[in-house]
Amino acid sequence: MVEEQLRPRGIVDERVLEAFLAVPRHEFVDPALGVRAYDDCSFPIGYEQTISQPFTIAFMVQALEVAPRSRVLEIGTGSGYQTAILSRLAHDVFSIERIEQLLDAAEAVLARLKTGSIRVKLGDGSLGWRSYAPFDRILVSAAMTGRPDALIEQLAEGGRLIAPISESAEHLVLFTKRDGRAAAQRIARCAFLPLRTGAA
Ligand code: SAH
Repeated sequence: MVEEQLRPRGIVDERVLEAFLAVPRHEFVDPALGVRAYDDCSFPIGYEQTISQPFTIAFMVQALEVAPRSRVLEIGTGSGYQTAILSRLAHDVFSIERIEQLLDAAEAVLARLKTGSIRVKLGDGSLGWRSYAPFDRILVSAAMTGRPDALIEQLAEGGRLIAPISESAEHLVLFTKRDGRAAAQRIARCAFLPLRTGAA
């Protein structure tokens, strides 16, 4: 996966590549998939949700520039795979998921594996996690419509936020915060499942 799917497509950050080597993707998908768990695609994880394609996660995580001291907020825990990757790169990861069954399953896998510091919460991640803010890095794993103002507010000075935003087309947008203002930059086209707000 690392040598065939990630490195040749421009994932060159060795810390990111090491994290992908260390986290067993097969633990986060249906055991019936076997070695196909490392294929170049997303897979259903139930509740109409998917574990993202490895390259998509690697691209976002590399662009996020997570540092060993970073406190990272993730919106959309899903399978917990990306949470585990982030925890190997960051100081602390805070992850929010709105579907309880997915969160329970992710927590169980993450507890079994050797990961860094992870705290999870059930709820609507579009509101962020005020009691732990500000965050140095924020990564959104479901498509938002419009600017993520509540999350930008919880982003630290010098922080980076990446979110899929769908307007006429869907793009991964990188927000960087300087002097209290967030500048937006489209970094790729993408296709994510929609972020849902309100009760699950
Ligand atoms: N990175 C995850 C992606 C999971 S798909 C993985 O690879 O496993 C996106 C996830 O976002 C889904 O689990 C979905 O339930 C969750 N989600 C959607 N809207 C949300 C919201 N408002 N708050 C928190 N999680 C949300």
